[in-house]
Amino acid sequence: MFNTLQTRFGDVVKHLRGQARLTEENIKDSLRDVRMALLEADVALPVVRDFIEQIRVRALGAEVARSLTPGQVLIKIVHDELVKLMGEVNETLNLNTQPPAVILLAGLQGSGKTTSAAKLARWLQERHKKRVMLTSCDVYRPAAIEQLATLTAEINATFFPSDVHAKPAQIALAALEAAHKQLYDVLIVDTAGRLAIDAMMMTEIQQIHAALNPIETLFVVDSMTGQDAAKTARAFHETLPLTGVILTKADGDARGGAALSIRQLTGQPIKFIGVGEKTAALEPFYPDRLASRILGMGDVVTLVEEMQQKFDHTQAEQLANKLRKGRGLDLVDFRDQLNQMNKLGGMTGLLDKLPGMNQVPDHVKNQINDRELMKLIAIIDSMTPQERAFPQIIKGSRRRRIALGSGTRVQDVNQLLKQFTQMQKMMKKMKGGNMAKLMRQMSG
Ligand code: GDP
Repeated sequence: MFNTLQTRFGDVVKHLRGQARLTEENIKDSLRDVRMALLEADVALPVVRDFIEQIRVRALGAEVARSLTPGQVLIKIVHDELVKLMGEVNETLNLNTQPPAVILLAGLQGSGKTTSAAKLARWLQERHKKRVMLTSCDVYRPAAIEQLATLTAEINATFFPSDVHAKPAQIALAALEAAHKQLYDVLIVDTAGRLAIDAMMMTEIQQIHAALNPIETLFVVDSMTGQDAAKTARAFHETLPLTGVILTKADGDARGGAALSIRQLTGQPIKFIGVGEKTAALEPFYPDRLASRILGMGDVVTLVEEMQQKFDHTQAEQLANKLRKGRGLDLVDFRDQLNQMNKLGGMTGLLDKLPGMNQVPDHVKNQINDRELMKLIAIIDSMTPQERAFPQIIKGSRRRRIALGSGTRVQDVNQLLKQFTQMQKMMKKMKGGNMAKLMRQMSG
């Protein structure tokens, strides 16, 4: 995520290395680098101009404390300005109203609206223990309604079926009535998108808005479209009183121009970012955490929060017990560990939040990817329970069968068994007691 900015800002600091203090000269050079970085990231021009000016003023007035390098001082300034640019604080959903609180989603086709509706519902259910109903007003695309129904079932929320012969505003009203009667806390309404902004779509969504009077009207936008995302959001905001933005597909966005431009161009806060296709891949948007990530300082706070939320404490406790009793680990334990990692957003999700990752070359990062993780899990899944418990019996023909069953190669199976043996050795070396204590702490 946002690799371009990470690398470029790393270069800014590198260029300041060996300088004793910030001078007009080296500030000018650094600002040129920052400007290039932002333009390359597809940040809107007026935003870039203001941003550079702010930094220039602050850098010229900055005192470099003896313990800090000019690079550190400049990065601190850039960090603060990035935070300001993105809106300072996390703005969460406002649900303070007579239930059901209605959330209306708007956006272009393919922006990730339907996926975001389900993600949001899941987040509200899991984090806030809300009862959520969803409906779709996209009468033009039965497939879109079907998609939302499927996702809703997946997350165990309630789907209000849409009557494709009714007007979108009527569907919305019927859903509202049902949610009200059945005492739902939240109603999420997905709407039809178009490939580009057109008058009919705008009129329709205005009608839905008028019928529902939602407390939240969120604009869903694909971050890969860079500063165009901010421009589309602004156009929508002119006809629809938005209350916030969900920025999707941030996981695939190397540049980050949308995240940096939206607030300033629309005045609207980004409330969430989508970071993957699964329904769990939604993060509340924290400007300070994202600024840290962009500057290669990582985002340990989010990482710890995710660990607390998604870590399976019972499983960790069982593993600790096993270790305490001095029993060795088997491949089932190994698979559990891999699954835990997967739940925490996979390897890429984890790496992304660790400090200093902008220094690690891409080819190294690419080697540690989620496909590898899924491959390992598939291999273990293809084994018999006996093989998982006693991996030493897995010889030639079994290896071939497992490779075939998991769609991998014999080398992959060999590699996994080798990794597992290494892990076992490591566990033996560590005193069982210490490890057990560690696991207990993690699960406590
Ligand atoms: P809609 O037409 O606006 O309802 O868009 P969809 O919800 O159908 O999403 C379009 C595509 O984008 C689907 O393939 C989704 O899986 C994908 N998508 C949505 N959000 C994200 C995200 O945050 N990250 C990634 N990688 N893909 C996403």
